[in-house]
Amino acid sequence: MEMRETLRKYFGYDAFRPNQEEVIGALLSGRDVLALMPTGGGKSICYQVPALMKEGVTVVISPLIALMKDQVEALKENGIAAAYLNSTQTRTEQQEIEQQLRKGEIRLLYLAPEKLFSANEGFIGFLQQLNVSFFAIDEAHCVSQWGHDFRPEYLKIKELRKRFKDVPMIALTATADRKTRADIVRNLALKDPEIIVASFDRPNIQYRIEPRQQGRDKLLEFLRKHKEDSGIIYALSRKSTEELAMMLNNYGFHALPYHAGLPQEVRASNQERFIKDDVKIVVATIAFGMGIDKSNVRYVVHWNLPKNIEGYYQETGRAGRDGLDSIAYLLYSPGDARMLRSFIDDVPDDTFRESLHSKLGHLIQVCESRICRRKLLLAYFDEEHAGNCGNCDVCLRQEEYFDGTEIAQKALSAVVRLKGKFGISYTIDFLRGSKSQKIREEHKQLPTYGVGSDLSKAEWNRHIRYLIDLGYLKVSDGKYPTVNATPQSHAVLRGQQAVKLIAHTEYAEIENSELPEMEDLMKALKKVRRFIAKGRNLPPYMILTDKTLMELAKYRPTTLDAIGRISGFGEQKTEAYGKRFCQEIKKYSEERNLPTDLVPSSTGKKRSTASRSLGPSPLETLRHLRSGKSIDEVVIERGLARSTVEGHIYDLAKHQKIDPTLFVPSEKRAVISGMVEQHPKATLTELRNKLGEEYSFFELRMVKL
Ligand code: ADP
Ligand code: ZN
Repeated sequence: MEMRETLRKYFGYDAFRPNQEEVIGALLSGRDVLALMPTGGGKSICYQVPALMKEGVTVVISPLIALMKDQVEALKENGIAAAYLNSTQTRTEQQEIEQQLRKGEIRLLYLAPEKLFSANEGFIGFLQQLNVSFFAIDEAHCVSQWGHDFRPEYLKIKELRKRFKDVPMIALTATADRKTRADIVRNLALKDPEIIVASFDRPNIQYRIEPRQQGRDKLLEFLRKHKEDSGIIYALSRKSTEELAMMLNNYGFHALPYHAGLPQEVRASNQERFIKDDVKIVVATIAFGMGIDKSNVRYVVHWNLPKNIEGYYQETGRAGRDGLDSIAYLLYSPGDARMLRSFIDDVPDDTFRESLHSKLGHLIQVCESRICRRKLLLAYFDEEHAGNCGNCDVCLRQEEYFDGTEIAQKALSAVVRLKGKFGISYTIDFLRGSKSQKIREEHKQLPTYGVGSDLSKAEWNRHIRYLIDLGYLKVSDGKYPTVNATPQSHAVLRGQQAVKLIAHTEYAEIENSELPEMEDLMKALKKVRRFIAKGRNLPPYMILTDKTLMELAKYRPTTLDAIGRISGFGEQKTEAYGKRFCQEIKKYSEERNLPTDLVPSSTGKKRSTASRSLGPSPLETLRHLRSGKSIDEVVIERGLARSTVEGHIYDLAKHQKIDPTLFVPSEKRAVISGMVEQHPKATLTELRNKLGEEYSFFELRMVKL
């Protein structure tokens, strides 16, 4: 069977992800391979597909016993004969598997490295009697002392090279730095390996880094927006995980703590409840997540600063494995940075200490800079990115600035007038000329009183916080923090320094363009999935991923044939679960008189935008444009950010109020359309990276429409 056919039959996926095909090809040609892919990039498929294409058994070495079990179960769900052997099994269970192995009934065998050399190396002798197709070494960076995750047992894997001279070996890892890479090749004795480095970009993850000021409010607001989603919140210490979890519970969220200090049973049960979607939030130290493969983690929050970019990337990588949009949200506090620095200072070895400092420094730089986060993160992994990714806080805020000098002057002079003795909310009330008793009489006499009545409380709050971010204001510590001027404030007050403020800080939220009926159906389908999962005692995501459910809700297939074409429904799952989902979809659609079995091109997306009506602001923009004005003129006359006006134009074009071709020069149009045709699934960011900076996101959007 062909590669693609294998992928479709067993996993129900239509296409390989970038680099998977290359890796598999190299392996099938009999070469050793070193594959570097980001967490969530799809490493498993790289050895699972060839394992099904080659004769014999593929031996997978993996350090994590818990994950092993999950992976084997997930494979079995797809109708693949897989097994693992480790110390958690009884002797009889192990013997049974050995029996099956001898009969050649197993295609993938998972082992912990120590198992290889158990029973006086008897086990390796046993393997030699089998027909081993190839070895896959997962988490291969564990073989490197440089890595953060060194495991001495991994060094013994080299022995396999001697015993199995002609059996290919593939090493896989998400750690990409060159030293580790070289260590892997050497310590595993890979033979002239084909080294395949995938892009470390995870386009579906939105990176957001914000100051942790008012962190609790920020966190609560974030979680409220993502109530329905599963997420992990990482904190530094055991104590803080427990405190945060408790705080969240007090605010009506259901969150469980997870850290190494909890009794084993509690840890196991908390993890299990999270994996099974019984609980949406886990607040954890980094001990959590290594052993889990949950594909529908929609966000990862870092309450504390991680130690380096590798760690940050690995932890954030746990979001969005299913490829759906997800968020990595870090609340940055310079205090954390200082604390980590002081821990590092205690490291005795000079070289090691310096390397830790430098690694931390890189991460701090990413946090404090206002350059595209993705660009900086990828640069750390030696990967060039054009920037302007359109999916990080810096880029999402970009072009949303306006000249806020006057607003800043009002705020700063209010703070100065109040002599730095009052908090933000008092300052705002003062600026807005509140008649409240709270405002002191003598303050009501000041000239600044009420100069900001044209802005809402929320707007003032946003601007003042941003002035704090910019360093024009600062907030004191303590129980009743007050706002103070800083040395930088004066230049602004004297009119020597212009200040750009953010027009509106709402992040372009993950586009939720699903129709309401789709959301409802999604809920119904989740229920079916939960029911099946309970019956089989498996986590729901292992039955079908969120992405698959989303496609079901979108295309509403009602025949097994149609269901088989949904991504994630391989043959086994179509047969096992297809009917149940067909029935649910049929029932749901009939009750609501909805059309079923939609073909992918005529789906909800387009209709959904058309059905959303245009607001007054885009229509105002339309009037301006109709009177012959250019975009720039509209920007100036309406006093809006360019991106806002562009957003209007996009909406107008979607509603067929305006001809989109007017906004992109024809030669650019042709190039963009060509690129879209070649890469129909590429995101805007990916297209932009391919086309270069002279193509704006606006132009891309207008062509892709
Ligand atoms: P990694 O081990 O690299 O962190 P996984 O192998 O766990 O990543 O893959 C992440 C997710 O992506 C899994 O849910 C997997 O089934 C899915 N996946 C992998 N390859 C594809 C593909 N070609 N098409 C669709 N989904 C895929
Ligand atoms: Zn960016």
